[in-house]
Amino acid sequence: MVKFDAKLLKKDFPIFQNKKNLVYLDNAATTQKPRSVIQSMVDFYENYNSNVHRSIHELGETSTCFFENSREIIAKFLNAENEEIIFTSGTTEGVNFIADAWARQNIEKNDYIVTTQVEHHANFLPWLRICKNSGAKLKFLELDKDTFFIKLPEANFWSDKIKLVSISASSNVLGEIWKENQLENIISAAHDIGALVLLDASQLAPYKKIDVKKLNIDFLVLSGHKMLGPTGIGILYINKSLHNKVEPYKVGGSMVQAASFNDVIWKEAPYKFEAGTPAISQAIGLGAAVKYLNENVDFKEFEKHTAYLSSMLIDGLLKIKDMKIWGNIEQIKKSGHLVSFSLPDIHAHDISGFLGGLNISVRSGHHCAQPLANMLNLQSSVRASFYIYNTVQDVEIFLDKLNETVNFFRK
Ligand code: PMP
Repeated sequence: MVKFDAKLLKKDFPIFQNKKNLVYLDNAATTQKPRSVIQSMVDFYENYNSNVHRSIHELGETSTCFFENSREIIAKFLNAENEEIIFTSGTTEGVNFIADAWARQNIEKNDYIVTTQVEHHANFLPWLRICKNSGAKLKFLELDKDTFFIKLPEANFWSDKIKLVSISASSNVLGEIWKENQLENIISAAHDIGALVLLDASQLAPYKKIDVKKLNIDFLVLSGHKMLGPTGIGILYINKSLHNKVEPYKVGGSMVQAASFNDVIWKEAPYKFEAGTPAISQAIGLGAAVKYLNENVDFKEFEKHTAYLSSMLIDGLLKIKDMKIWGNIEQIKKSGHLVSFSLPDIHAHDISGFLGGLNISVRSGHHCAQPLANMLNLQSSVRASFYIYNTVQDVEIFLDKLNETVNFFRK
């Protein structure tokens, strides 16, 4: 069995050696990179830099081999087939891909797209634009403002006018938003009325083992940089039964089987969906990141660890006068990895700015989920989020420095 030891893992991350006192709690924005990921990209540029799927010289064959090997590692990680894994630049591009290459052709006036009230702009604005352009309408799964779980929709919510359900597996502001099997139930309710389902897994995939077959999902998107990989690379999973129903998002080199002056035949997926020179070193880096997770992280143990850190953090936060925590406290303590909070008398930017000066990295703002922030009347919150290298000591230092910050502003 893979052991899980955050203190030991921290040693694999050069940034923590180079910045000795850094307490990095901004993992929901992006994670740090282990040496093996950085080295995999250095290796590519130093030893076999070459384009992929074109040149049959030795370097070209080697880079193609490493690039495709990455796809295979990621496919296994998600329990997908290799051809179902499409490299994108990240979650944002993945959602825009499906909006442009599937929804634009298939969503008509008076159709509905369903999403939730808690989405990141990346899984909201593409659908708002599709609706504005087509005359279709958005329909929202609502948030229960007391429990911070998505409410169970009434039976009459569902109709065959709903063509797509595009939802987050986990919120970047509130953490877990689905009670028990509710996500699975929404996926099957959507399928029952013939809708397709897209899952924004950018906040879930780094923390929980996802099985796309078990989830029975049509599209899934994630960002590599939130799970130890480099920026500029992400994954779009398209269930192979839909490969012929989704158009290429981009057209150009590398994805053509035959082209003439007046026609074209695409290659099979995944190549049909990957026009142009891809982000080769980043794809290789993401493969190395997933390999690192496979070899070093028992996800069950990891969940217990982040839940323990989250509990500690919440207990410490609640000792501060007028502290408000945004999210289901019980659920976060049970299995969370992210805590958003605010104080009525100190702006979140003041808190994170002050903490930044004390070597502590947390995020503040509306977290690119402005409709949610407006609905909650929450101008700005501070978010602390954990990853595999965070320790009990990080939480102790954070709480200590947060108290110092609060005392500074309240004195
Ligand atoms: N969805 C969610 C839930 C996110 O947290 C983020 C990143 N904060 C995104 C989408 C967008 O990801 P990216 O910027 O990597 O494309």
